[in-house]
Amino acid sequence: MGSVNQLEQVPCSLCGAERAALECLTVAHPPSSGGEWRLVRCEGCGLVYLNPRPTEQAIAEFYPSEYYENSEALMLAATRWRPWPGLRKWVKRRLAEEHYRTLSGRSASERVLRRVLSLWKVRWGALPPRNRPGRMLDIGCGTGYYLELLRDAGWEVVGTEIGDGAIAICRSKGFEVLKGQADQLQLPDQSFDVVHIAQVLEHVHRPRAILETACRVLRPDGLLLLDVPNYEAPLRRLFGPSWFSVEAPRHLYHFSALTLRRLLETSGFAVDRLYTRALSQGAGRHLEVTSQMLRRAMPEGEALSRGVEVTAQLNALAEQMGCGDTLYVEAHPRGAA
Ligand SMILES: [Zn+2]
Repeated sequence: MGSVNQLEQVPCSLCGAERAALECLTVAHPPSSGGEWRLVRCEGCGLVYLNPRPTEQAIAEFYPSEYYENSEALMLAATRWRPWPGLRKWVKRRLAEEHYRTLSGRSASERVLRRVLSLWKVRWGALPPRNRPGRMLDIGCGTGYYLELLRDAGWEVVGTEIGDGAIAICRSKGFEVLKGQADQLQLPDQSFDVVHIAQVLEHVHRPRAILETACRVLRPDGLLLLDVPNYEAPLRRLFGPSWFSVEAPRHLYHFSALTLRRLLETSGFAVDRLYTRALSQGAGRHLEVTSQMLRRAMPEGEALSRGVEVTAQLNALAEQMGCGDTLYVEAHPRGAA
């Protein structure tokens, strides 16, 4: 754990309560980033959060330099499949076409393509559910996968990001990226059709301020697309403190459907849709675990392909039961029609 003056004790950011019970102790991931951390559960509203936590000034030291590159490569590394950039680009374009229903035909190869696309869709998150491209703000855009996806689909895109490495990668791809936390940037009111916040809200020190900013910059008929790890997922209960997304001390908040909805509704949003999906970033870690277990009983290559099967089935089951390990939200500014 960092030195004491780099840590802060905080009240619940959802209801303001100071009292919270110990939820679990967890070691940092990777362990080299030091120490044991405490997750607590607010006694007022049930929100789970890291307390104490690194201050905003101190948090950067807990992000190893390869953090963004790792997240970029996670799914591919898990399957040890690294297609050349041209193929990635082609798949992404087909993914966008698929989403906008311009992909026609029902041949066997099309069906295979659809299956592949459905896997990639998970990796690249949800596209806006509308045909008309507009202006999109991606808060915490990372290395720019979503910027790229929407630009390829005809959208005008802007990102915000705090990681210098990630910003450099985005800018090398020609994207406009603003450096800083979204609530501290000069973003004009009602200037975006879509705000996208994927796997970011759990990292930020002021989730409410970020959501209020998203609400302010959206046009009255605009749409928020947000996703976070689902702390109430059965796979979290199974893995406990070593669940992939506890990720101390980078994940400061752990939302359930209940606490996420309440935070959105008290930050200016009306929730249109809240659902879970499986095979998120967790898939890589779950695949690692299941294929490690299988490797004891069979050759490595077989263990890997069986691992893919087992992981896919586990996650499909969780998804069918409505308890996948990622929560997805579609919401609009309240007061809008
Ligand atoms: Zn609370």
